[in-house]
Amino acid sequence: MLPSTLAQDTIIALATASGHGAIAIIRLSGPEAVSIVNGVFKGKNLQAQPSHTLHFGTIRDEDKILDEVVVSLFKAPASYTKEDVVEVSCHGSPYITEQLLKLFLRKGARLAEPGEFTKRAFLNGQFDLAQAEAVADLIASDSALTHQVAMKQMRGGFSQEIKALRVQLIHFASMVELELDFSEEDVEFADRSALRRLITTLQQLITDLLKSFEMGNVLKNGVPTVIAGKPNAGKSTLLNALLREEKAIVSDIPGTTRDVIEDEAQLGGIRFRFIDTAGLRDTQDTVEAIGVARTKQQLQKASLVLYLFDVTTTLPEQLREELAALQLPQVPYLLIANKKDLATPAQLKSFAGFEHLVYLSAGTKEGLKELEQSLLEVVNANEALTGDRTIVTNLRHFQSLQKTNDALQEVLHGLDTGLTGDWLAADIRRCLFYLGEITGDITTDDLLDNIFTKFCIGK
Ligand code: GDP
Repeated sequence: MLPSTLAQDTIIALATASGHGAIAIIRLSGPEAVSIVNGVFKGKNLQAQPSHTLHFGTIRDEDKILDEVVVSLFKAPASYTKEDVVEVSCHGSPYITEQLLKLFLRKGARLAEPGEFTKRAFLNGQFDLAQAEAVADLIASDSALTHQVAMKQMRGGFSQEIKALRVQLIHFASMVELELDFSEEDVEFADRSALRRLITTLQQLITDLLKSFEMGNVLKNGVPTVIAGKPNAGKSTLLNALLREEKAIVSDIPGTTRDVIEDEAQLGGIRFRFIDTAGLRDTQDTVEAIGVARTKQQLQKASLVLYLFDVTTTLPEQLREELAALQLPQVPYLLIANKKDLATPAQLKSFAGFEHLVYLSAGTKEGLKELEQSLLEVVNANEALTGDRTIVTNLRHFQSLQKTNDALQEVLHGLDTGLTGDWLAADIRRCLFYLGEITGDITTDDLLDNIFTKFCIGK
């Protein structure tokens, strides 16, 4: 429910990261924002200045100058929160920002709660809920793809899809409800087969969005890429080369990498989460046996598998057996013929018949660029990443979509069993409710608190 009046109190928070910096920005929002700053600002009368202007001056606590600052004015409703907003750019010292914050608090501002600026922006109609949530995702984005997805959502791409679904459903709900008004006359305004078609189309759209969630998670957390292979194949060496740092223990004693080592690297704007596993081999050694079991577990979590083998000690037939024994999950994989620097031309040639095969020397890094290129190609072949389609990244949206889908199923079931219009209308209203939760057309205080408390203070 949206309040009809704007908030009465003026909130304040540091808008930039804490710590030392060239400048820091303190932001105020609310009816007293301009007057609070004006009361301690020496330079000009801020109350008399137009919106979207900058003003240089000093901030004083009584006679003491705390800092020289630049004040930016944004007058309601032309601001982020649609309230009066003042941003004070000061020198980026934690001492100065603390003194300024204390002064403004004494003059009547209140410390903002986490996400309160964005919550006000939402409540005042600046954007819908899914867009507000994308603001947090945008701040958290750290690769080209997470950035692209968050930006699209913040600019309303995802919301528009959800709203389009709602509009179609509302149309049908009203047709079905119109029927109810004429129930005596036994008329059908809402064509049942058209309704069925609409529901199945909606279900398809929602199923696609639900499926995209998995990809959304992969984007956020990195493509889980398992590096597997026998001991000494060069897995740790490859991981180090990909990460460009010494992380995994490299040794020539087989089975040294006993545990699972994980790290992330970005290649071509995509975040990969590389998982190095203990060598895969039958062993009596219990510690390593646990490692092997873990490898199999990790393989189940992989979206991509890099299977490494030592091209100088492995025969094609052995490789086939290893792969068969491993039972790779149904995910894309690359076979990596490692240690090509030590291999004879005949050894290299013997693997020519394998698909998805890359030759590499993890030790000398020869072939590393080509491997990285192949990795990108495998991932880019996934149209969810390259296409312009909407990707759901938010668990809350995913759950609301699931509930919508369940309710749609009920509508279909109702149509199949010849349910009367009033029951159908109730099920359609449930779909509308769940879709409305995503964009915030329908909200509760709990829901909003839950969302905005996850934001940082100052956003
Ligand atoms: P892991 O058991 O699969 O993790 O294998 P390691 O990465 O520990 O490597 C085992 C041994 O092979 C180490 O002595 C590495 O230096 C060596 N090694 C790994 N990759 C190459 C390579 O491409 N060429 C050569 N010559 N040696 C390599």
